[in-house]
Amino acid sequence: MIGVLGGGLSGLSLASRLRDAEVLEQAERPGGLCQSLSFDGFTFDPHGSHVLFSRDPRAVAFFEEVLGDNVCRRRRNTKVFYKGRYVKYPFENGLSELPPEDNLACLLGYVHAYLARHAGTAPPPTNFREWVVHRFGKGIAECYLLPYNEKIWKTPAEELGTEWVEGRVPDPPLEDVIRSSLGFPTEGYTHQLNFLYPRTGGIESLIRGLLPRVARVRTRFRVASIRRRGGTWVVSDGREEREYGGLVSSLPLPELVRCLADVPPDVTAAAEALPHRALVTVMLGIGRPDLNEFSWVYFPRPEDGRFNRISFPSNFSDRVAPEGTSSALAEITCNAGDDVWSSSDEALVEHVVERADALRVFRREDVVASRVARTRYAYVVFHRDHREELGLVKAWLEKAGIRLLGRFGQFDYLNMDQCILRGLALAGELGGTP
Ligand SMILES: Cc1cc2nc3c(=O)[nH]c(=O)nc-3n(C[C@H](O)[C@H](O)[C@H](O)COP(=O)(O)OP(=O)(O)OC[C@H]3O[C@@H](n4cnc5c(N)ncnc54)[C@H](O)[C@@H]3O)c2cc1C
Repeated sequence: MIGVLGGGLSGLSLASRLRDAEVLEQAERPGGLCQSLSFDGFTFDPHGSHVLFSRDPRAVAFFEEVLGDNVCRRRRNTKVFYKGRYVKYPFENGLSELPPEDNLACLLGYVHAYLARHAGTAPPPTNFREWVVHRFGKGIAECYLLPYNEKIWKTPAEELGTEWVEGRVPDPPLEDVIRSSLGFPTEGYTHQLNFLYPRTGGIESLIRGLLPRVARVRTRFRVASIRRRGGTWVVSDGREEREYGGLVSSLPLPELVRCLADVPPDVTAAAEALPHRALVTVMLGIGRPDLNEFSWVYFPRPEDGRFNRISFPSNFSDRVAPEGTSSALAEITCNAGDDVWSSSDEALVEHVVERADALRVFRREDVVASRVARTRYAYVVFHRDHREELGLVKAWLEKAGIRLLGRFGQFDYLNMDQCILRGLALAGELGGTP
C-alpha cells in the first residue's frame, strides 16, 4: 500500500487513481487550501479566493467531470484599483483608463523597453525588479507591477528570482499595449478569461466530488514521525502507526523534514529557511444585491490598504450568498506571527471595512456578517537565493525514497490544475491510472 501524506487536492487527486493507497490528513476534513466555510447563509473559500481555469484541456475536463452539474461558467471581469479608478486587468490592457500622464508614461516605458530588448542594448535581468522593467518598462513597473508584487510577496522585488514568472505574469504583444493605451479593447492572460466555479458549496465542492473516488482517507491524523522499518515506511501521529510500501508527501517541506530522524543539519537548515507567506482573509457578507460586477479587484498601492486583493464570490455564483445580498473577501499576505497575523479579528475586519468604505468599494453600513481566517502556508516565495536550498532538500528526500507532490510538497507555485495533473502523472508512475 502507498501512504499519501496530506489530504489536499494533490494528495486526493493522486490517491483517486491508485489501486491501493491511504491518505493521512491532519484536519477534520480533507481539502487543505481548497476548503470552504459557510456562516450566516454565506459560503467563502477561507484560504483565499479560488476559481477554476487552466491552459490544459485535461485539467478543465477533470474539473467538469468532478463537478458535473454543480458548475457556473463566468467571464473574468477583473480590475486594478489605481488612484481611485477601476482599471481593466491585466493593467497593460487597461492603460487608457489611467490618468493621461500615467497612460503616456506606461506606453513610452513599454516601447522603450521593447526597443532596447530588440536592439540587444538592455542587459539581461538578474532579478525580478530588473525583469519587470526589462519586460514592461518603467511606467507599468512603477505604477503597478512593482508595488503589487512587493505587497503580495512582502519581499523587495530585487530579492525575488524570475523563474516563476513564465505563464503567471501576462506577456502582452506590443500592438496590444499600443491599442490599449489608445482605448481599443484588448484582452490579456486569456487562459484565465473564462473560469468555472461550483454553483453551491464553494471550491470545496471539487474535493467533495473527488472523495468518493478515494478508497481510504484518515482524517485527524497529524503525521508526527516517519521512519524506515526494513523495507517499509512507518508513519505515526504519536498514538498509532501506519505501515506502507511506498510514501508520497504533499506536506509542506519544512513540516515533512521535521518528521524525519537523522536528517543532515544542512538539509534541516535549508528546509527551515524556505521562504513562504501566510495569508489572512477577511470574509464579509454585504446586505445589498447589486454591489458591483467585478470578479476581483487588485489593490497595488500601499496607501489603499494592507490587502492586495478583494474578491466578490457572489459574482462567481449567486448560490453562495443569500438572496438580496453580496459577498466580499479581502486577502492580506503576511508572515505567521507578525503584526497582521497576530492582530485581533476585530481589528482586521475594521481595517478592511474602513478602507473599503473610504475607497467607496462598499459601505460600512452594508456589512452584515464577517469572519477572519488565517492560513500558515499560502504562497511559496521565489527568493533568488533559495534555489540551491530547495534543490538540497528535494534531492535528500528523493534519495531517501519519499516522492514529493503538491504546492508546498514540491515548494512550487502550483495552481489547482497543476496539482491535479501532477497527481495523475505520479499515479501513472506508481502503477495507477494517469
Ligand atoms: C490565496 C490563494 C488563492 C488561490 N487561488 C487559486 C485559484 O484561483 N485557482 C487555482 O487553480 N489555484 C489557486 N490557489 C492554489 C491552490 O489552493 C493550490 O494549488 C492547491 O489547493 C494546493 O493543494 P495541495 O494538496 O498541493 O496543498 P494543500 O491544500 O496545502 O494540502 C496539504 C495538506 O496537508 C495537510 N497537512 C499538513 N501537515 C500535515 C501533517 N503533519 N499531517 C497530516 N496532514 C498534514 C494539510 O492539512 C493539507 O490538507 C490559490 C492559493 C491561495 C493560497
